[in-house]
Amino acid sequence: MTSSSAALPAPALADPLDPTDTGVDTDGDDTPGSGRRWRPRRVMITRSAAELPHGQEILRRCAAAGVANIDLLTSDRLPSLGGDNPRAAYALAKSTLAVVVAPPSKRALQPIPPSADWRFDLAVGCPAHCQYCYLAGSLTGPPVIRAYANLPEILAGLDPAVGQGAVTSRSTDRRHEGTTFEASCYTDPLGIEDVTGSLSATIAHFGRHDWAGPVQLRATTKFAAVEPLLTLDHGGRTRIRMSVNAADVAGRFDGGTSPVPARLAALGRLARAGYPVGLTVAPIMPVEGWQEQYGELFDAAQRILGGVPGLDLTAELITHRFTARSKEILLDWYPRTRLEMDEDLRRQKRGKFGAVKYVYPTPIMNEMKAWFPSALAERLPAARFLYWT
Ligand code: SF4
Repeated sequence: MTSSSAALPAPALADPLDPTDTGVDTDGDDTPGSGRRWRPRRVMITRSAAELPHGQEILRRCAAAGVANIDLLTSDRLPSLGGDNPRAAYALAKSTLAVVVAPPSKRALQPIPPSADWRFDLAVGCPAHCQYCYLAGSLTGPPVIRAYANLPEILAGLDPAVGQGAVTSRSTDRRHEGTTFEASCYTDPLGIEDVTGSLSATIAHFGRHDWAGPVQLRATTKFAAVEPLLTLDHGGRTRIRMSVNAADVAGRFDGGTSPVPARLAALGRLARAGYPVGLTVAPIMPVEGWQEQYGELFDAAQRILGGVPGLDLTAELITHRFTARSKEILLDWYPRTRLEMDEDLRRQKRGKFGAVKYVYPTPIMNEMKAWFPSALAERLPAARFLYWT
């Protein structure tokens, strides 16, 4: 462990286009107890974060995971990571964990339709390398993974929002979920769990805290290392969803994540541990043979989840879209990607504040929108369909 605020020496670079060199250490199989576990090549902790118990817990976890390059900063400013070009800066950032204190502006709850009443963040950034990443365009600067050390303060900030939601709380179909809090908008919380412990601490908090009304924690992941979650006293107040996709989409574009069969198997383990669970099918793409491919995905989920006693399963269906900014960033990160981001093949859709998204044209959207819910109902009848977007 070193103490410095100077720029750090560059680690060996992961190749963002090579799924076998993602900076993610993995024990390489899909059996229980396995799954991809991220080891940052460098950890930096700010002075204020190092004073907090959860910051110290993250350091302990990093040291236990064998991270040798841990830097105690002498201030709360993160040094430049370096990198001569966007690709090098990307690779450096994606292998770095910064432990910081979330300021009040980052702790302000935001509505997050159509998923949940409120969004809150345990961290910002993700160690995986999905070539369509939802975070592109949302993050500023290189995508260094920032984990928040003031977790108790973040969790205490949720209490005033109980009973205040305007998304699921006002939905006739979903009101029974209670006030919903989404923790995976800006990170994959399970992807960094081994070195942060933040997701387990949050699940335990939701399970035991004396809330003013019904609540639900929501998190989605592309990682299968769920074992630390299985023995937590979750109280049925956490819904974990696996983000899954057709074989051609996941195989081509999901770098540094657990394989889809391992994700489904992990979801089965969570369901058998009494968690409400879900499938986040995203981003849906009309690849060659999409009906067969997504049908096989639902069949595989049925084989794993169909016999789970008391199964509480939801499904969220999200089509692929991009913005001019996310396209630009993704092409910097993945210059050789074969992901289709052709404005001429898409329809423009304006968001609430006039921002333009490029979505699939109306005929194919209508075809998919008709097919997916009925295929889901037929092949995975236990799944409660939440929304299509
Ligand atoms: S798992 Fe999610 S957040 Fe992480 S790289 Fe993939 S799309 Fe981005």
